[in-house]
Amino acid sequence: MVIDMNDSKKKILIVEDEKNIAQVLAFNLMQAGYDYEIASDGEEGLKKALRGNFDLILLDIMLPKMDGFTVCRGIRMRLDTPIIMVTAKEEDVDKILGLDLGADDYVTKPFSVNVLLARIKANLRRSANEVVTEAKASTVLEVRELVIDNEKYSVTKAGEPIALSKIEYDLLAFLAANQGKPFKREELLESVWGYKEFFGDRRTVDVTVSRLRNKIETDPTHPEYIFSKHGYGYYLA
Ligand code: CA
Repeated sequence: MVIDMNDSKKKILIVEDEKNIAQVLAFNLMQAGYDYEIASDGEEGLKKALRGNFDLILLDIMLPKMDGFTVCRGIRMRLDTPIIMVTAKEEDVDKILGLDLGADDYVTKPFSVNVLLARIKANLRRSANEVVTEAKASTVLEVRELVIDNEKYSVTKAGEPIALSKIEYDLLAFLAANQGKPFKREELLESVWGYKEFFGDRRTVDVTVSRLRNKIETDPTHPEYIFSKHGYGYYLA
């Protein structure tokens, strides 16, 4: 598959029931050179998303008919379009990060338009890069029982497949490709998530590492693969 970044406008689906927020989003996306479409409830959002012609989805959580969590799961069963969850509640952030929804990112309301646009850009770039990586890389990385297959985009441990979300996979593949080298959270946000400077939340790294450990480590409290370097960051060994 060939993706030409400059070829056509990226199209973003806004799933948001509050009309004024949807309009502000739409206006800013348009100003930034994106195409958009609006869905004003969860059902409509899922239906539109599954048509599959969007480059990214902005997904509110509190929605009529079907909440954003359900919509997110529904999209992920079929598509890997980047999803940015939009939430007004701090406890939802824990849920987004803790549950294995498959969301790529989140922003909290009220959000700064510049931060949101930066996140959109980073997620679009990451998803475009992934296609290139997938097409080019044919390398299989082995770390003891762990086998990371960059061609099949799959991970096994002792022969058993491990289901990882996109970002969990990217983080693992990145650490494995740089075995033994510790990275600061900021560096991981930049290299794996594609965020520049202050746009990322360092907690995102911690929670993704913890989810990854739950999936690949025998005992996540005594990791044998992904280690923390105290006061620094993480590395794989
Ligand atoms: Ca709402």
